[in-house]
Amino acid sequence: MAVTLARQAAAEAVVDLDAIADNTRLFTSRTRAQVMAVVKADGFGHGAVVVARAALDAGATWLGVTSLTEALELRDAGLRAPVLSWLNPLGADFEVAADRDVDVAVPSLDHLALVARGTRVHLHLDTGLARDGAEPEAWPALCAEARRAERAGRIRVIGVMGHLACADDPDDPANEEGIAAFEDGVEVARRHGLRPALRHLAATASTLNDPRTHYDMVRIGAGLVGIDPSHRTPLKTALTLTAPVVSVRRVRAGTPVGYGHTWRAPADTRLALVPLGYGDGVPRGVEAEVQINGKRCPIVGRISMDQLVVDVQDADTKPGDTVVVFGPGEGGEPTVADWARWAGTIEHEIVTGLGRRVVRR
Ligand SMILES: *Cc1c(COP(=O)(O)O)cnc(C)c1O
Repeated sequence: MAVTLARQAAAEAVVDLDAIADNTRLFTSRTRAQVMAVVKADGFGHGAVVVARAALDAGATWLGVTSLTEALELRDAGLRAPVLSWLNPLGADFEVAADRDVDVAVPSLDHLALVARGTRVHLHLDTGLARDGAEPEAWPALCAEARRAERAGRIRVIGVMGHLACADDPDDPANEEGIAAFEDGVEVARRHGLRPALRHLAATASTLNDPRTHYDMVRIGAGLVGIDPSHRTPLKTALTLTAPVVSVRRVRAGTPVGYGHTWRAPADTRLALVPLGYGDGVPRGVEAEVQINGKRCPIVGRISMDQLVVDVQDADTKPGDTVVVFGPGEGGEPTVADWARWAGTIEHEIVTGLGRRVVRR
């Protein structure tokens, strides 16, 4: 044959930027609020910079990350859009945040005292997770001090943010409580003389399910890469994980496979070796399937750190064939949602868990 297909040399995660653009447009079409593309945890494992670029090109206007380190990665890549970093210890380099034009979320008086002159601040209120953000009892004092700092010309308070604990279930009464807590918090901020132009509460699920939560900006992470935590809106999967078959062997009935011999071939069969394991983010304790040459085949024996074994039975599998671990599901391959179910977790954990040996393309 004149054309030789390039052989896949390693496990690859192929990121579909058109899917990210389409998902972004779905969000911009569902709201009049600004859309912040949340690209924390390396863009949910898809690559922070590429996801950010695709989302900005498709209508997102802000970027959001957890740590300042993540924010600086975006700036280093040349991205000029406004960036908010919302979770930093007191030892973070707040001078660099100001120098590099990164907005900072402030959850406490201690943080407020440390942010640099000229910083654009989003006051962060805990609206029901007992996690990040100021406790409701600490909120009035935080607003008062922020207003003092603003009048002194040290900072500008441009946002108030909250986050909902149970948005993946739109019927959960905690959503009403979270919204009420947020509205109270904004009211308290206004009573202290603050005029935050950006009130933001909603992430993916509440943006899709409850327009009351949109306010001035929505923060979309999972939804960009095709995950609706409430499983109500079909979005486009952006990640396909494949790996090459390393070798294929015939085994007799009764042959034990892998550490601990947890599986024995029930009949004569053929086994394919795949260079992916829990060191690459494949959950170890699952009963799962992959797809090879269009056919679903079970993973057998214990998943090792670097490799797993697939029972391909009589399928015509050769070394070099492509194993689809997960993808959009349109060709019958498993999806990220399947893997999350098999592993007893959520899709987020599957996509953010992929290790560094997996080549992003
Ligand atoms: C991760 C995160 C988001 C994005 O949530 P998704 O459900 O992934 O859209 C928004 N806000 C905060 C504070 C977050 O930590």
